[in-house]
Amino acid sequence: MADCIFCKIINGDFGTEFVHENEYAVVFKDINPKADIHLLVVPKLHVESLNELNDENLLGKLMMTVKEVTQKLGIKSYKTLINTGKEAGQEVFHLHIHILSGKMKF
Ligand code: AMP
Repeated sequence: MADCIFCKIINGDFGTEFVHENEYAVVFKDINPKADIHLLVVPKLHVESLNELNDENLLGKLMMTVKEVTQKLGIKSYKTLINTGKEAGQEVFHLHIHILSGKMKF
């Protein structure tokens, strides 16, 4: 999607460092961290939110990506969060899973 910030990040337009990448997703640090560690798992496929997701396999791949990256970084305790819809706090309309660990700032 041309005007999607996460599609641009995936495309390398901003030079964002990926802490992890696989066939389905990239993982990078949240620019405005709400915890000591705050990562975003973002599918390479543009899907606006969970409401528009039709591929149940993709969600499984994304959760396995959460496991991969937390194991890789030695993060043993963490929360996962998916905001769906503006009123629930979704700001970027490209599906993503937050990984939050350590002291929370909310
Ligand atoms: P949400 O509110 O669930 O849509 O989460 C969007 C998240 O993306 C927020 O926590 C933002 O801080 C984060 N974010 C927005 N722009 C960027 C960016 N350029 N790089 C990294 N994280 C970003």
